[in-house]
Amino acid sequence: MIDYHVHTKLCGHATGEMIDYVKEAIRCELDEMGFSDHLPMKGGKEDNLTMTLDELPNYVSEVMSLRKSFPEIRIKLGIEADYVPGNESYVKELLERYPFDYVIGSVHYIGTWAFDHPGELGEWDKKEVDLVYKEYFELLRKSARTSLFDIIGHCDLVKKFGHRPNTELSKELNDTAQVFKEYKVAVEVNTSGLRKPVKEIYPSCEILSLYQKYDIPIVFGSDAHTPGDIGKDFDNAILLARQAGYKGFVTFEGRKKVTCELSNRSPEGLNVPIT
Ligand code: ZN
Ligand code: FE
Ligand code: FE
Ligand code: ZN
Repeated sequence: MIDYHVHTKLCGHATGEMIDYVKEAIRCELDEMGFSDHLPMKGGKEDNLTMTLDELPNYVSEVMSLRKSFPEIRIKLGIEADYVPGNESYVKELLERYPFDYVIGSVHYIGTWAFDHPGELGEWDKKEVDLVYKEYFELLRKSARTSLFDIIGHCDLVKKFGHRPNTELSKELNDTAQVFKEYKVAVEVNTSGLRKPVKEIYPSCEILSLYQKYDIPIVFGSDAHTPGDIGKDFDNAILLARQAGYKGFVTFEGRKKVTCELSNRSPEGLNVPIT
């Protein structure tokens, strides 16, 4: 199994040394892990949201050095880049500097609103939930169309605090799957939602099943911000992927996909409802 969504303390809101994440991944018997800490944002105040530009080269060299020190696990160099319209060339230029294995593109902003940030939760009261959902999925499609990203992160993060749309979104969801297919991006099965108020994996079974119909590849990620979260709830993630009809997943090497079979790590006896 793989865990492709792993943060480090460089971003300012995660804890633990990088080596501790690796040790935990080995303890969990993962075959592969990838670091994917937050890429500095354009004009970012770097106020505990992302690593700084100065830290980026150190992050890369630390991953390379851990890779050499721990041959018992494959360690990939990934990054999680914010998608903000208008910042494409800035992101592109940063990504070209280093030999990333994969790039996760994530929508955390609608306009300037960090809709998933607990500190900006109050903004939700001023918004129309359906409109927020529509804007969110529009941004997801735009992010895929940039061709900057290999993996689209936590594809229904907008549900994080439990806000639910009142209208049918199937057209939005279908259009989004269509664009993901066209631009050949993968999506992640991200277990961090289980640790958030929504208490669901990102994306939902409904959305993941749709992606499966469109033959969109998946990766697995815990979005760990502490070493103990590595590989967390992966039995659930595998069960969800199987429920959605997936028989395999992908890994990345130098930004190229490699197809893998879904392991038989048995989720039997698990009695956790997956929605
Ligand atoms: Zn983070
Ligand atoms: Fe994210
Ligand atoms: Fe993340
Ligand atoms: Zn994330």
